[in-house]
Amino acid sequence: MSEIYDLLIKNLRVVRPLGQGTTETDIAVKDGKFARIAPNLAAGDAKQVHDGRGRLAFPGVVDAHMHTGIYAPLKEDAVTESRAAAQGGVTSSLNYFRSGQYYLNKGGPYAKFFPEVLKISKGRFHVDYAYHLAPMDATHIREIPTLVSKYGVSSFKIFMFYGSHGLHGRSDDQRKFLMIKPDERYDYAHFEFIMRGVQAARERFPDKAAQISLSLHCETAEIMTAYTKRIEGQKKLKGLAAYSASRPPHSEGLAVFIASYLADETALPNINLLHLSSRKALTAALQMAGIFPHIDFRREVTIGHLMLDTGSKAGVLAKVNPPIRPREDVEFLWEQLLAGNIDWVVSDHACCRHETKAAQKTFGNIWLAKSGFGGTEYLLPALVSEGTKRGLSLNRIAQLTSHAPARRFGLNAKGDIAEGLDADLALVDPRESFVVRARDSASTQGYTPFEGIELAARVKATYLRGQLICENGNIVGPARGQYLHRPTQ
Ligand SMILES: [Zn+2]
Repeated sequence: MSEIYDLLIKNLRVVRPLGQGTTETDIAVKDGKFARIAPNLAAGDAKQVHDGRGRLAFPGVVDAHMHTGIYAPLKEDAVTESRAAAQGGVTSSLNYFRSGQYYLNKGGPYAKFFPEVLKISKGRFHVDYAYHLAPMDATHIREIPTLVSKYGVSSFKIFMFYGSHGLHGRSDDQRKFLMIKPDERYDYAHFEFIMRGVQAARERFPDKAAQISLSLHCETAEIMTAYTKRIEGQKKLKGLAAYSASRPPHSEGLAVFIASYLADETALPNINLLHLSSRKALTAALQMAGIFPHIDFRREVTIGHLMLDTGSKAGVLAKVNPPIRPREDVEFLWEQLLAGNIDWVVSDHACCRHETKAAQKTFGNIWLAKSGFGGTEYLLPALVSEGTKRGLSLNRIAQLTSHAPARRFGLNAKGDIAEGLDADLALVDPRESFVVRARDSASTQGYTPFEGIELAARVKATYLRGQLICENGNIVGPARGQYLHRPTQ
């Protein structure tokens, strides 16, 4: 008997990102790739046969905005947070990384720094992974071509407010925080030169240019510093409402304007506007797309900003940058998501354990809590659950969570369920509801701002390049994730 396939999954309802509706079919895998997608494939042709039980088969989620190794050592986070990712049907984890405090807690050129990141990462991720890097000083800008050609890093980042506003609210000593030399400044001029550097790399590597891009965290330091002082001093608002008011939406909108103007000035056409959280931010982004039609803007939102508002009982545990916003902003994000004005949805996963997030003594004090939280494990179930309720199609969900980020960030073998592509799958039961409990997550965070929310769909199995890596929330097998040297074939 000759077995043609390594694995056959019978009885699935496949969701194609660019298709319409679902297709009842079987999927055969060979050498980690989708080998055949057709109904009634013969069980005898495969070494292993799994029953898909009529579940929805989404392309493996590409969580394009994660942070691994920010608050806990990379060697720990890489294992536990990628396990949480696998629980949520994520098969590609794209992590924003930089030199400076947190992360590896050191500065220096990426030529020295990044091989260390790759070395620590190797053999630890349960899903495939890559890094977006932030050029923090002039040396890093000069390293962009090498990062592209030698290390397969095709996306870069600017944190617009880091020059003079602290990560968690108050102004820290930013030079110490960023670990840059006394003659370096992390300011708009630096951002301009990053853009020129990324564009120069695009011109140098024309075959890769379409998938070399720059991402920006759009918030303006000066406005946030002034408003933080005011709101904290007035003591009228508390918790998430206070934090939102201290980093007001127009600070995001203004940053979007500045970023877009600089992108035009430097002729850099591939701009990703990360985690737009408010009506003003998103409106600014849409206005800029109208003014600069030659710039290929992509607009990102996070599942946190779609699921939570300032009234959320998670309180300080939902502190994040940009902040969780009032309900009106959340509804605007949904409206624009349904209108097709959002390109992808991410988790912005940043595992921030309870003891790190808010010290026991000061618990409840929004100003002293740390920013960020995990959530990659809830990205797909929450979007299916809340999105379908609001009329978002399953195909569009596959686009938002997989195909669109995969194409933008140079993962050409990911993002769809088609013959020849990597056999990455998230099998979802759209009828199995569950209540989010932090204790069920493989993440070491220990809490979640989504605690107690009931989701109407559950990820039942995750396959990475044809291997079952998670079933019913249980991780299967060793860490099989591979580094994605982008753009991939
Ligand atoms: Zn982030």
